[in-house]
Parts: sequence; structure tokens; C-alpha cells
Amino acid sequence: MTRQKFDLLNTISSLNKKIENCTKCPRLSSYIREVAKKKVRRFENHNYYGKPLSGFGDINARLLIVGLAPAAHGGNRTGRMFTGDSSGDWLAKIMHKNGFSSIPTSQFSGDGFVLHNAYITAAVRCAPPQNKPTKEEMQNCHSFLEQEFQILSNVTTILCLGKIAYDATCKLLDVKPGKFGHNQVFEYDGIQVITSYHPSKQNTQTGRLLWKDWLAVFKKAKKKL
Ligand code: SF4
Repeated sequence: MTRQKFDLLNTISSLNKKIENCTKCPRLSSYIREVAKKKVRRFENHNYYGKPLSGFGDINARLLIVGLAPAAHGGNRTGRMFTGDSSGDWLAKIMHKNGFSSIPTSQFSGDGFVLHNAYITAAVRCAPPQNKPTKEEMQNCHSFLEQEFQILSNVTTILCLGKIAYDATCKLLDVKPGKFGHNQVFEYDGIQVITSYHPSKQNTQTGRLLWKDWLAVFKKAKKKL
């Protein structure tokens, strides 16, 4: 391992420790613990993670994927974003199809889902009730995205999953957001920003996000790298 890679790994792991121990938003801190305690029937035998989540992936990535926040019974249970829920199924399948991951599924931490040239993160690190963080919570969490972006210095393309992710990305790049829509491309100071509807069950089961439109986003993202 090169000295530079060693330093990068150290820097990201201290950031990840800070995220894991963060309790800046009282509402979210108690919510994720409560969910982890109460669980849902289908996961009643699982040990929930119940802590804020850091991003994960290839620290030399050119593609950064920004989601909204961990899901209460997905990432908040498994301890990894986009893992163990239907958004994770959609993301893992397309990532693998496009050569960004080792396997086409993301079911639990340590399952062998390894990212190549991509890093996955989110605007907010604690699962919010109804997937709706408040403005203040988004503001509280923003510095983690900023620090990640500084560390991931090879990023040339940011794929934003949903409007909240797009707004957080615009704030990160210090630009005014345009009108959010699916499969749009913006260029801000040399960084390509691509927008997509979030692959949440709500969008995929209602046909708001179709597989062909999801494919189109990744085709574009790959071309821009
Ligand atoms: S949402 Fe972010 S800032 Fe708020 S408690 Fe969780 S990790 Fe900390």
C-alpha cells in the first residue's frame, strides 16, 4: 500500500468514527435507537446497528453517489447504506451491471459487496422518521459530506439520488440548485452532477422510476467519468 493511500484510509476512518459517535440531532439520535430496539416483525431476530452511518466504497473513486439518508430498517439495521432494503437491491444490481461493484446484491455488511471507482454516501447519516430530515438536521450533517468530498479528491462525477441529495450537492459545490428532474446533467466547476429519482420503493413500485430510466442514468454517469 502506498503512503498516500495509507494516509487517505486513516483520514477517512477518523471521519467515520466521528460520524458514528455523532449525537448532534437529538430527534434523530433517539429515533434510530428506538427503531433498533423496537425493530419490525420481519427483522425481530436481527441485531440492529442503530447508529449514524458513514459512507463506504473506493477512496480513489471518480464517481460519488449521494443518497438521502439510511433507511430505518435497511441501513439502520445492517450498518451500511443502501444495504438490506429494496433501494439497495436496485442500486447494487445497476452498480454491478456497470462494473462498479463486485456482486449484484447488497444485503448485509461483510457480504462481499465491494465498490470499484465509486463511493456511496448520503446527505444525512441518521435514518429520519418518514425519510424526512428537518432543515436543521440537514444543516447539522452537511459538514460530514464536505469532509468526505475533500478526502475523496479524485471525484469527477456526483450522482444525486433525489432532490435532497441534489440540494446537498449544490450546497457542497456552492452553487444555486437548478430545477430538479430525472437524468439531468449539470457541470459545476469541473464536477459533473447527474440527478436521478431516488430508487426508493415508493418510486420504483409506483413506476415513477422505471428500470430503463435507471439504466439511462448510469449510462450517462459512466460516460462522464
Ligand atoms: S443526522 Fe448527522 S449530524 Fe445529525 S446526529 Fe446524525 S450524524 Fe449527527
